[in-house]
Amino acid sequence: MVSIRTEGVVKRFGEVVALDHVTLSIKHGEFFTLLGPSGCGKTTFLRTVAGFELVDSGRIFFDSQDVTMLPPYKRDTGMVFQNYALWPHMTVFDNIAYGLKVRKLPKKEIEKRVKEVLKLVRLEGLESRKPHQLSGGQQQRVALARALVINPKVLLLDEPLSNLDAKLRLEMRAEIKKLQKSLGITTVYVTHDQEEAMSISDRIAVMNSGRIEQVGTPSQVYFRPRNYFVADFIGQGTFLEGQVKGEKEGYLEVEAEEGLLLLASPSDPTNPPKPGDKVIIAIRPESFKLSKDTNTIKLTVYDVHFLGKSKRVLAKLGEKTFLVEVDPTLEVQAGTAIEVSAPPEKTLAIRA
Ligand code: ATP
Repeated sequence: MVSIRTEGVVKRFGEVVALDHVTLSIKHGEFFTLLGPSGCGKTTFLRTVAGFELVDSGRIFFDSQDVTMLPPYKRDTGMVFQNYALWPHMTVFDNIAYGLKVRKLPKKEIEKRVKEVLKLVRLEGLESRKPHQLSGGQQQRVALARALVINPKVLLLDEPLSNLDAKLRLEMRAEIKKLQKSLGITTVYVTHDQEEAMSISDRIAVMNSGRIEQVGTPSQVYFRPRNYFVADFIGQGTFLEGQVKGEKEGYLEVEAEEGLLLLASPSDPTNPPKPGDKVIIAIRPESFKLSKDTNTIKLTVYDVHFLGKSKRVLAKLGEKTFLVEVDPTLEVQAGTAIEVSAPPEKTLAIRA
C-alpha cells in the first residue's frame, strides 16, 4: 500500500492538453475517484500513474519514491481496463496467471496465488473457461483478479462497470468497494457516472478539460461545490443567476432571477463572494422544505415524477424551472401552486 502524489503533471497529445498541471495527493488505502465528462483526461491520468504514458512535465511519487520515469512493470500497479482486455484465446486461469508467469514465479506459487485470487473474486470452478464462455460480470471479475494477483501497490480501475447492466453494476460496485476495503489497497477509480462516484469513493476529484476543479468527500463536492461546473456535474438542482447585495443574519443576501431576494451561504467559505459579485444560486432538490420559512418561494407545479423513494416535482416561477424532492406519499398535482422554502445554509451562492 502506498500514497500517490502528482505534482503539476502535464500530458499533451499534439494540440490537446489531456492533463493540465494536475496536482493530487491520494492517501494510503484510499478509494479515490476521478470523475468528469468524456474526454476530460481521466484515462490519461490513470495511464500516467501506471506508466503506460510518460508525462511531458511534472512528477509522480509513490510514497517518497519518484516513479515519473519508471516503466510500468517496475511500478507495481494493477489496472482494470474499460473493455477488460482479456486474452480471448487464453483460459481464465492463464489470463490471471499471465502477470505471474512474466515475473517468472515458480509454477506451484502461481497455482496457489491464482487459486486465492479466484476465491477472492468468487470465480472458483471457472478457471478452464475462455472469456467468451463467461458473462459480462464474470469477465469483469477475471480482469479484477488479473490486476490483483500480482499484489499491486496500487489498483487502477478505468470505468470497470460501464459494460454491465444496471443491476449488475450496483452489485459489482458493492463488491469492489468491499474488496478494496478488505485488502486496504490504494485505489484510483475512473468514472463519468456521478452517482457511482458518490457511492463508492472516500474522496472524489472532479475533472474538466484536463484540470482538477475540486477534490473532496462525496458530501463536500455535493453540498459545497467550489464552482458551477462541479455543482452542475455532480448532481441535479435549481440554478439561479444572482448578485450579492450584502449580508443579513449571518448569510449573504442575494438578488436572484425572477425578483427573488434570498439568504444564501457561500459554497466555498474560504473564498466567499462579496457585495456586488455575480453568483449562481444552487439548491439541491432535497434541500427544499414544503413549508413557509426563510426563502419562501411560491411555485406552480407542472409535472410530477414518481421515483420510488421520493417524488420529483417540476415547478415554475416565471420562466425558471425548480426541482423539488418531496415525500412519495404526498399528493402533488400538476397545475396547483406550492410554497417551498430553502434553508439559507443549503442555498448555495457560487461565484459566477
Ligand atoms: P472517456 O471518459 O471518454 O474515456 P477520458 O476523460 O478518460 O474520456 P482521455 O481518454 O484521458 O479522457 O482523453 C483526454 C483527451 O486526450 C481527449 O481529448 C482525447 O481525445 C485525447 N487523447 C487521449 N489519448 C490520446 C492519444 N493517444 N492520442 C491523441 N489524443 C489522445
